[in-house]
Amino acid sequence: MDPANWGWNVQGDKFTLIMMDNNPAPNILLNRIHCNCSAQCNTLRCSCKKYGLECTGACGSCQDGNCDNMNQASILDENEDCF
Ligand SMILES: [Zn+2]
Ligand SMILES: [Zn+2]
Repeated sequence: MDPANWGWNVQGDKFTLIMMDNNPAPNILLNRIHCNCSAQCNTLRCSCKKYGLECTGACGSCQDGNCDNMNQASILDENEDCF
């Protein structure tokens, strides 16, 4: 898919969400994007991280407990919430 068609602003290799209402990510995106990482998900190799999304149960083996990109870890990432 082309992220530009999904409300994302594509600049080079960075994806920035275009502000729409107060919804940080359309549900359809949340349902579609998941990664297949085996480790921490703390780099942009993680597709969740790349799109600014938290990992969910749909993700890969990172969900076995190695993921740094899940809800409970976001307390440490307050800057990331300042869109
Ligand atoms: Zn990941
Ligand atoms: Zn993930």
